Amino acid sequence: MTQSSTLMSPETAPKKPPPGVELSAQSLYDKCWALARNLWWTWHPEVINLFRDLDPIRWRQLDHNPITLLKEFTPERLEIRAAEMVLYSRINHAHRRLKEYMAEKQTWSATEAGVLGAKPVAYFSAEFGIHESLPIYSGGLGVLSGDHIKSASGLGVPLVAIGLFYDQGYFRQRLDEKGHQSELYQDTNVEDLPMEPALSPEDEPITVRIETRKGDLFAKVWLMNVGRVKLYLLDCDVEGNKAEDRELTSRLYGGDERTRVRQELVLGVGGVRALRALGITPGVYHLNEGHSAFAPLEVIRERMHLDGRTFDDALREVSQQTVFTTHTPVPAGHDRFRGDLVEEHLGPLRDSLHISYDQLMGLGRVEPQNGEEPFCMTVVGLKLSRRANAVSSLHGHVTRRMWSNLWPWRVEEEIPIGHITNGVHIPSWLAWQMQQLYDRYFPANWMRRMGEPEVWQRIYDVDPGELWETHVALKSLLLQFVRRRVARQCRRRGESDEAIETARTILDPNILTIGFGRRFATYKRATLIMRDQERLWKILNDTERPVQIVFSGKAHPKDEPGKKFIQEIATARLNKGFNNRVVFVEDYDINVGRHLIQGVDVWLNNPRRPLEASGTSGQKVVLNGGLNFSILDGWWAEAYDGQNGFAIGKGFSHVNDEMTDGRDGDYLYATLENEVIPTFYDRDVDGLPHRWIRMMMNSIASCAWRFSAHRMVMDYTRVCYVPAAGGRSCDMP
Ligand SMILES: *Cc1c(COP(=O)(O)O)cnc(C)c1O
Repeated sequence: MTQSSTLMSPETAPKKPPPGVELSAQSLYDKCWALARNLWWTWHPEVINLFRDLDPIRWRQLDHNPITLLKEFTPERLEIRAAEMVLYSRINHAHRRLKEYMAEKQTWSATEAGVLGAKPVAYFSAEFGIHESLPIYSGGLGVLSGDHIKSASGLGVPLVAIGLFYDQGYFRQRLDEKGHQSELYQDTNVEDLPMEPALSPEDEPITVRIETRKGDLFAKVWLMNVGRVKLYLLDCDVEGNKAEDRELTSRLYGGDERTRVRQELVLGVGGVRALRALGITPGVYHLNEGHSAFAPLEVIRERMHLDGRTFDDALREVSQQTVFTTHTPVPAGHDRFRGDLVEEHLGPLRDSLHISYDQLMGLGRVEPQNGEEPFCMTVVGLKLSRRANAVSSLHGHVTRRMWSNLWPWRVEEEIPIGHITNGVHIPSWLAWQMQQLYDRYFPANWMRRMGEPEVWQRIYDVDPGELWETHVALKSLLLQFVRRRVARQCRRRGESDEAIETARTILDPNILTIGFGRRFATYKRATLIMRDQERLWKILNDTERPVQIVFSGKAHPKDEPGKKFIQEIATARLNKGFNNRVVFVEDYDINVGRHLIQGVDVWLNNPRRPLEASGTSGQKVVLNGGLNFSILDGWWAEAYDGQNGFAIGKGFSHVNDEMTDGRDGDYLYATLENEVIPTFYDRDVDGLPHRWIRMMMNSIASCAWRFSAHRMVMDYTRVCYVPAAGGRSCDMP
């Protein structure tokens, strides 16, 4: 091409089409669809607002799903609506930004992790929490995986993700008037989700086959675009499978032990086969929790088959490339399978590996020769990975002790399990109003530098009144949301008009508001604050300095004690003495969670130490100006510095349940009465709680960068991915 053809004179350059042509209805419509089909939109408030503005009521009714929303529009109707709302430039701008983002080459990873370029990281996880409209997650593990891949996308880390597609997902929660939880499973329609069949290099849809001793299993592969990351989801609802197997991947964490081992077979072995069919050769395999720990066995088989390696050589090679993250600090929480289930499902693979039944079982046992010991997914994960990590510093200690028998000749400090503390994807959890504030005070490109501490020091430049006002605005949005939800709950249960009307006015924006939202696993002790009802009554109803609490969370369908906790809290509203100051919001999910973490004054977290491996919900609270009020467990044990929030207790570990709960309950009440409440209500002549605002700033400055998913993914990249792919090595903390 000659230079003159690229540098055209004004006369010869084609005229820009008049606005009416460029913005034809069809092109506008196509751009909206392009935005809806890449989950990049889920962390861009300006795109979310754009979808909402197309039809605010339907947007809410459709669970914030832009695909089902756009299906209700024709290009013509969309154009009319865009004209009414002056959306043209916003749609064009968003579309251009997405295109630029996808084409960007100058990323953090391009300079820091070049070695991964041609051979991406394959990130395996049983759940991905990306957005409320995509119900393929149940809780913290899923949200962590979602945040991990969003940050990998932002940093440009070459990474593909592998998971399962659950067409019924996790359940939706309903409570009856007595607070009993019932579980509702809804079929999702794949056409309503931003997925498409994944294609092989020959442009063919992909189905993988996995042999078992009792017949073959098949899974098709879907593709979802999460910014620059491709997420592949395996789905057993295909022809060729027996009727029962078509439902194998229907539900997340449903079914019995056999369902579980089969799901994990599909995720691990099926996942590796899917990558091969896609023409992807990973340089690193990252197993996020033990569910996918069969994967390295299949990679070993490939190496033996294709490269003629022996089992031992292939194992050494593959474990060098494998990274394993464990999340479970209790021995009983790890997946373990009986020998017959392992043989039924791994038998054919074992034949190809030329190893005996005992050898295979030995890989999943602490004592390989112990015929009584079941096959543990965490043990096989640890044995087949050269790099393994826990998810907080404290969890690292607990994990090294728990698995010290695997390395009997080593002292505990030398057990080769490090830690990388979890973090959250800031753009996904930061309220838009708060982002506006940061935009004004932080360096211009701060979103690209969110993992750097200096950026967040600027929070001290913010006007305290402005920070407080922003927080109060977010709090009032939360209270509106809670009222709307609670009124809806009452209406659905057929309660009186009076009860519905009361629900519309509960909670007061001037009252100190405590939030508690997470899975109702018993170790998280949702009801700890209700241990002493009389003391709680006094705290809630203090005339000068009252308190209100909003709870939300689901109990696993088989967790009866967890369901009892829900009942205890949900029926507190029937206790007139509590004055409607204890509220339960049904159907906790990413949407409810987002409202809570953006609007509360204080976030309560009181697990039995050290059972919360990390916890991430409190990290989301930090970004939005809420303060943590937490047991010194998980991430908070390393984050708390005496000035940036509140600690419950002194970091003692669990003794026995009754004693620990009694002691922690006392600490909880004392800290609430003597520190949290007085600081919140200590107002200046200008009505501002200056000491409180100072703590908000301390919390943001000390925690936001450090507990961000960007920092986390940078750590994984430097400490695990680059060395696993053959680059220079770096020590794990
Ligand atoms: C962040 C988040 C969690 C994790 O909460 P923890 O307090 O760390 O257990 C669970 N569920 C949802 C929906 C979340 O957004």
